[in-house]
Amino acid sequence: MKTDQEREAHHRFVQALQHEHLTCSKPGCGGAMDVADLTPHNARIKAYEATCERCHMVEKITGKEEHSPAWDVASITMMAEVHLLHDQPTCPFDDTPITFISMPNPRRKGRYRLTCFYCGRHTEMNWPPPEAKG
Ligand SMILES: [Zn+2]
Ligand SMILES: [Zn+2]
Repeated sequence: MKTDQEREAHHRFVQALQHEHLTCSKPGCGGAMDVADLTPHNARIKAYEATCERCHMVEKITGKEEHSPAWDVASITMMAEVHLLHDQPTCPFDDTPITFISMPNPRRKGRYRLTCFYCGRHTEMNWPPPEAKG
């Protein structure tokens, strides 16, 4: 069970991830925040620093790394299907929008890397998956 505070922190993480407008959480301020992406190269979870343009409060917004249990085949297939329907799949563990990256595909097959930048779960998959072949 998530606390209200965790839920709010996750909500702000998703806003930063999707480049949505963040407002200062300090009571009575409500200023616009400048969000900088401070994620180190190749990091599995994103780290942001938001600064209020009005009161200059600095807020750290980061994911919460967690790898187990890993995504199972059913949830990976479900995320891929949602993606191919041009919809936004979300991580089944934390409801964070998944990032799909198309990888170089030497054999003209679709190959994707799926990453949840909140929990750091990630996988690579071929599409269509081998078991789907007639
Ligand atoms: Zn502020
Ligand atoms: Zn996740």
